Amino acid sequence: MALLEARGMKKVFGKLTALNGAELTVQPNEFHGLIGPNGSGKSTMMKCIAGAEVPTEGRVGFDGADITSASPAERARAGMSLKFQITSVLPALTLYDNVLLALQGQTALSKLMFSRTRGLLHDKVMAILEQFRLVDRAGEHASALSHGQQQWLEIAMALAPEPKLLLLDEPTGGMSLEERRVTGELLAPIKSRCSLVIVEHDLDFIRDICDRLTVLDQGAVLDTGTVEQIQASPKVQEVYLRRA
Ligand code: ADP
Ligand code: MG
Repeated sequence: MALLEARGMKKVFGKLTALNGAELTVQPNEFHGLIGPNGSGKSTMMKCIAGAEVPTEGRVGFDGADITSASPAERARAGMSLKFQITSVLPALTLYDNVLLALQGQTALSKLMFSRTRGLLHDKVMAILEQFRLVDRAGEHASALSHGQQQWLEIAMALAPEPKLLLLDEPTGGMSLEERRVTGELLAPIKSRCSLVIVEHDLDFIRDICDRLTVLDQGAVLDTGTVEQIQASPKVQEVYLRRA
């Protein structure tokens, strides 16, 4: 059974139709890339999946339940986690406290239990920072990080609640080539624990880490399939050549 199934997604902003019947299916432990020209509706699709935008039409199924009318908080509790281009890192806090906050946000119960589970949370915070190669800097303010490191901290924070699905909208925006390469290395091990939907401009990057791709064009799916299928798709080539 698919983990995520978004069907017939339509989103209208006034006179503009941002999504026009777009679909997305993601299996458990699948890395799925969402690509397409600027303005093709990728971010709107991600927001409709996460509940940050309400689709005009369409249904979203997640982990066996219909979550079409669920709030972002309900979706988070069901196991969705997202990181958008807009930052969620609090620069005046240390890396440690940023991750701790991300963990505490998990459930009201864990907040109540905080004092009793402090030891457990400490180990979790350090393990997450370790995975993202930031553990040496746990006590520094997040504002001291480079742009790329801040992006990694945000991904670490999005993963802290152990989601079933992670949604990343252009996580490598503004990163150097080397930082992109490291981002790929940091994401690879999470595949055993969760699924990923990632929006990316960098086709080389997405090709290396994704199992399947969905290509949007003008708010609808142009094609979907394995990386190899999409690379060989004349429809996809046509759109990218047309826009190049
Ligand atoms: P992408 O992420 O693929 O570049 P978006 O989903 O951001 O595309 O945008 C798709 C279309 O919807 C664009 O034409 C964009 O200008 C429009 N759009 C997105 N969000 C809004 C909004 N909140 N209000 C009005 N138009 C929007
Ligand atoms: Mg976008």
